[in-house]
Amino acid sequence: MTHRVINFNPGPGTLPEEVLVEAREALLDYKGTGMGVMELSHRSKPYEEIHFGLMNGIKGLLGAGDEWVVMLMQGGASTQFSMVPMNLMTGGRAAYVVTGEWSQKAVAEAQKHGTVEIAATSESEKFRRIPRPEEIHVADGVDYLHVTSNNTIYGTQWPGDPPAVAPPVVADVSSDFLSRPLDLSRYALLYAGAQKNLGPAGLTVAVARKELLARAPKTLPTMLNYRTYAEKDSLYNTPPTWPIYISYLCTQWLQRHGGLAGIGERNEAKARLLYDALDATDFYRPTAENESRSRMNVTFRLADESQEERFAKEATAAGLVGLKGHRAVGGLRASIYNALPVEGVEALVAFLRDFEKRAG
Ligand SMILES: *Cc1c(COP(=O)(O)O)cnc(C)c1O
Repeated sequence: MTHRVINFNPGPGTLPEEVLVEAREALLDYKGTGMGVMELSHRSKPYEEIHFGLMNGIKGLLGAGDEWVVMLMQGGASTQFSMVPMNLMTGGRAAYVVTGEWSQKAVAEAQKHGTVEIAATSESEKFRRIPRPEEIHVADGVDYLHVTSNNTIYGTQWPGDPPAVAPPVVADVSSDFLSRPLDLSRYALLYAGAQKNLGPAGLTVAVARKELLARAPKTLPTMLNYRTYAEKDSLYNTPPTWPIYISYLCTQWLQRHGGLAGIGERNEAKARLLYDALDATDFYRPTAENESRSRMNVTFRLADESQEERFAKEATAAGLVGLKGHRAVGGLRASIYNALPVEGVEALVAFLRDFEKRAG
């Protein structure tokens, strides 16, 4: 008998059970090939269906036309912190909005390649909110503006797309990729480590406007040049075939559940349920400012912080796993990515009420 808990881990995170059940078969014999997906040649027909299936699945969900290219890479979002400036900072200057640790890391890498102009930061407020549009000042003539759409550690998320600005917008969407509809016209490049909201660790996805990639200097290492992926359909070398397969199944799962509009509504409803329960009492205290609250990572504290360890322990015993906050900020955090079912949030809400009765 398989026993599965409700998994609130921030990443790698929970995956849709339907997908895992389907993948179980594909481990041993994929569609009668007599081989598991991991054993297929990446140059074979059955694998190509998976590979292009994922790229087209992502484009379909985003509504991206022929001017866009999907790139399947490795190295995590952290490698993108370097690849973005290496490929795009060709005039030597870029602007960054700093909304937490991931943006700070992205800035630190970019500074190795040129000058970083801070377009806005909420650091003085401990990253409890996303800067408002009127607070964002993008210097003239920068090569791009970089934003982080969702901040896993601080539990904040841009309420919508970043404001329309002159330079191309590059977004680290690692923790809310394909979680809600977005206005693609505002962006030039999106990137994400797959393990938060799309699939397993080991795959990194970028979606870019083809014209943007023309800038990449020819002197870049082949594997760090976006054009290598764009021009060879991400088959220049061996891609991470198994993570690509699971992510492909996840995009099909998303399609079956109403695409980005459908998942966006579901994610919104899940977040509302949880924040409403936290707001209903002084016993709990959500940490992010109202307008900047994340629908993916709900961060909160207990009024009596000394009870937090007990909370996490008892939640785990009740089958609600992964609720400890990031070590940088402490507290508690429920990551409620695409694949976390509404029943999981309902169970957490019931636990919140029950724990308050016992400990309040
Ligand atoms: C998790 C995360 C990262 C780091 O991703 P890796 O794939 O582990 O390198 C970067 N940015 C954001 C927004 C994240 O949530």
